[in-house]
Amino acid sequence: MSETEPTTIETGELSRRPGRQRGREDGKFGRYGGQYVPEALMPAIEELTDAYERYVLDNEDGFMDEFRERLADFGGRPIPLQRADRLSERYDREVYLKREDLLHGGAHKLNNALGQVLLAKYMGKERIIAETGAGQHGTATAMAAAHLDMPCEIYMGERDINRQRPNVFRMKLNGAEVNPVTAGRGTLKEAISETMRDWATTVENTHYVIGSIVGPHPFPVMVRDFQAVISEEARAQAIEKTGELPTDVVACAGGGSNTMGSFAAFVDDEDVALHAVEAGGSTLEVDEEAGVAPNSASLYTGEEGVLHGARTKLLQDSDGQIMESHSISSGLDYAGVGPELAYLVDEGRVSPVAVDDDAALEGFHRLSRTEGIIPALETAHAFGFLEERHEELGERVVVNVSGRGDKDLDAAIEETDKRDVDEAPDMSMFTGGI
Ligand SMILES: *Cc1c(COP(=O)(O)O)cnc(C)c1O
Repeated sequence: MSETEPTTIETGELSRRPGRQRGREDGKFGRYGGQYVPEALMPAIEELTDAYERYVLDNEDGFMDEFRERLADFGGRPIPLQRADRLSERYDREVYLKREDLLHGGAHKLNNALGQVLLAKYMGKERIIAETGAGQHGTATAMAAAHLDMPCEIYMGERDINRQRPNVFRMKLNGAEVNPVTAGRGTLKEAISETMRDWATTVENTHYVIGSIVGPHPFPVMVRDFQAVISEEARAQAIEKTGELPTDVVACAGGGSNTMGSFAAFVDDEDVALHAVEAGGSTLEVDEEAGVAPNSASLYTGEEGVLHGARTKLLQDSDGQIMESHSISSGLDYAGVGPELAYLVDEGRVSPVAVDDDAALEGFHRLSRTEGIIPALETAHAFGFLEERHEELGERVVVNVSGRGDKDLDAAIEETDKRDVDEAPDMSMFTGGI
């Protein structure tokens, strides 16, 4: 790396530190993680594990160099770490924003989608499949597949297709096929089962791109390693701007990929506090009878169980049935969470916090109004946390802006209209419906 490079990304060194070795060998994070998959998928999982070790860990055939280059030229990296002047003043500490909303596609998800589609190419696969709920992961995967000239099929619940028409159109614009899933309630859970079924019969030529640090090994470590570019950059940028490490790093957590991406390079820096902000939904109280958790706070309130191929913390009732989750942000609305985060929470290394819908919406309006950045509703939870708990934080806080809010404007109008939100614009212009 040349002397004049503005941001020195010590990727190699950071990637070899002990915290980053966790899970790489056997997919175990203490009691969490593992490979709980049907027999039919084991060959695919073993082949992928081998490819992860060769191409990602050992940079065989220059895989990681090509990944970095494409993240730069197609994705727009490095992404700035920006000082938030008004928030710094408001909270009386230095607040820095890692602007993943500026990554191509408007969220952190491309880091992973691009890594996995490129890996599939190195593995000689000829077809990409993925599942998507709100459509964010599907759009990122379709974009990466178009960029790398790979045929792509996305499974999506029929109900979600009707609710997310712009994202469905985006995927189709990028040349992906969108396969509606009609089983069950026609949402993410059924779409995941359908994608698994496809993969079990097409493993020879197909790669399944999982969208977060969830699923069987090697997905949690592989997705973390692709997303770790967020904190590798942020760590170097913080040192360059302030001469010191941050005191705190804050990121929202659904499955937890932007979260571990923001934490990975700091895990071994014991003085840096790591805060994972989950969706507290409408309340943390659970309605066991109805099988519903009106939140998505699996790190904060969940219990150990197995979901989608890994042991982790889950929202489940006393019989071990997975409960439906809820959040105003679809990207956080998931009953599970990555096994590595579950482990780091048990170890006391990561602090889980739950921020409810109301506080998240306040965060959404505050960042928009004070900094000129409209965040995704997922991201807004991190700013709800900042408002509620900044007094407990240190002097230099890095917050990951996981995505931009353009996709959430309809939801934001609806949710704001229902509430009395501080700093919200006058909503009367919308009476009469929009
Ligand atoms: C998908 C998404 C999330 C949640 O996913 P993680 O795997 O928890 O990072 C958060 N923010 C944005 C903008 C998203 O699109």
